[in-house]
Amino acid sequence: MRRPLYRPARTAAVLTATLVLLFPLAGYAQNGRAALENVAKAMGAASVKSIQYSGSGVNFQVGQNFSPDTPWPRFNVKSYTRTVNYESATIRDEIVRTQGETPPRGGGGQPLSGEQRQIFVASGDFAWNVVGDVVNPVPVALVDRQLQLWTTPHGVVKAAMANNATVSGRTISFTAPGRFRVQATIDAQNLVERIDAVAPNAVLGDVAIEVRYSDYKDFAGVKFPTKIRQTIASYPALDLTVGDVQPNVAVDVPVPDPIRQTPTPYARVTTQMAADGVWYITGGTHHSVLIEMKDHVILVESPLNDDRAVAVLGEVKNLVPSKPIKYVIATHHHFDHAGGLRAIAAEGVPVITHDVNKPFLEKALAAPASVLPDRLAKSGKKGAVEGMRDKRVLTDGARTVEILNIPGNNHHAGIVMVYLPKEKLLVEADVYNPPAANAPPAPTVNSNWVNLSDNIKRLNLTVDQILPLHGRILPLAELHKAIGHSH
Ligand SMILES: [Zn+2]
Repeated sequence: MRRPLYRPARTAAVLTATLVLLFPLAGYAQNGRAALENVAKAMGAASVKSIQYSGSGVNFQVGQNFSPDTPWPRFNVKSYTRTVNYESATIRDEIVRTQGETPPRGGGGQPLSGEQRQIFVASGDFAWNVVGDVVNPVPVALVDRQLQLWTTPHGVVKAAMANNATVSGRTISFTAPGRFRVQATIDAQNLVERIDAVAPNAVLGDVAIEVRYSDYKDFAGVKFPTKIRQTIASYPALDLTVGDVQPNVAVDVPVPDPIRQTPTPYARVTTQMAADGVWYITGGTHHSVLIEMKDHVILVESPLNDDRAVAVLGEVKNLVPSKPIKYVIATHHHFDHAGGLRAIAAEGVPVITHDVNKPFLEKALAAPASVLPDRLAKSGKKGAVEGMRDKRVLTDGARTVEILNIPGNNHHAGIVMVYLPKEKLLVEADVYNPPAANAPPAPTVNSNWVNLSDNIKRLNLTVDQILPLHGRILPLAELHKAIGHSH
C-alpha cells in the first residue's frame, strides 16, 4: 500500500480512527457496499418489503402559489397514509385535508371548503389519481411519485444498493438515469437523516427536493422517523408527524384497466372548431386554443409537459400547415398550465404573459434540465417572455385578439384571459371550471366565478361562448346561472 510521503503512517492511522468515531461511514469510504449494508442493518431495511405509515400535519400545493414568488398554498392534513410496496414499485398516498390559511392567501384550490380526500398512486411506469369511482391518469406526476417512493427511509437504502451508490463519509449518492439524482446523509446511528434530490420538472427543468427525517423510533424492529419535513424548489411541501408505522403490510394495488390501456394519455387530441379559424384543442385534462391570423397562428396555453406540447404542436401543424406560431399566450404560471411552455420555447416561439409571471417564466425557460434533458435543453435555446399589465391587443387588420388581465380573483395574482371581440369568444383558465354538462349545480358559488362575471361586465365584453381551458365550451349564460344571475 502506498502512503503519502509527507504524512507519517502513524498520523494517518490516528486521523482515520478519529474520523471513524465522528462519522461511522468514513472508514468504509473505499467500500460503499459494506457501508450501505451497515445502514441497511441499522434501519432494518432488508426485512422491509412493504410499509405503511400514517400521521398528520400540514402539506402544500406545489406549483399552485398565488404568485410565483410566494410559498405554495398550505393545507391542514387531518390524516395522511402512505403505503409502499418496494417489490412492485408501488406507492399510494391517501390524504384528507382542510383549508390551511385563514383568511386564504390565494392560489390553486383556494379556499377549500370542508374536507378534501385525495388518492395519489404510482405503480411501475403508471401514475394515476383516484377521485370517487373515477381513475385519472397523471403521467406528469410519475417521476415525482417514483422519487417519493425511492426516497422513503428504507426505499433510499434499497435504491442506493440497486444503483451502485458511491459512499463518501456520511453521504450516499446515486443516480437513477433519466429519473433523479439522490444524495442521502446518514447520522451517527447509521440512520437516514436527510435527502437532497434533483428531479426533472416540466416547468422548472431540474428541481431540488429536500427531505429531512428525524425522531426515529422502533416499530416492530424497524426504525422509522416520526418527523418528516420536505421542501420542493426551496418552499415547504410537507411537515408530517408520523404516529403509526406498519412494516410488511399486504399491499395489492393493481393498475386499473383504463390506466393500463392508455399508456400515453397526453397524446390524445380532440379538436372542435369554435369559429372560423379558431380551434378548441382538447382530449385530456388541460386544453389549448389555436387562433389563425393572416400569416401566422397564436396558441393559447401549452399545459402539462413536453409530451402534451408535442401532441398540441402536431395538431397545430394539421390544422394550419402553412403558418408559423408567432406567440404562445400563458394564462398564468401554475405548473399544470405552464408545463408545455419549455417545448414551445424550443421552437423559438415567445411567450406572452402577465408581468407577475414574467421573471419566473424567464428563469424557468432558461433553466437546465440535466437529469432528463427535454426539448428545450436539447435545442440549446432560451425562451423569450413578453410581459403585459392590463391589456395587450394582437391584430392582423382582420382579426383582433385581446389579452386581458383578470384582477381581483383569489386563484392567481396575474392571470389573463383572451377575448375575441368579433367572434364573441372568451378563453379563460381556472377562474371558472364548469361542471360536466349533466352534473347537478354546484352547492356553493365560487367567488372566482363572480369575479370573472364582474370583470366581463367591467370591461364591457360581449361574450357568447366561453372556451374554458378545463371542461367544455359553454354559453356565458351558464356562468350567470351558476352564480345566480338571471341575465
Ligand atoms: Zn391555476
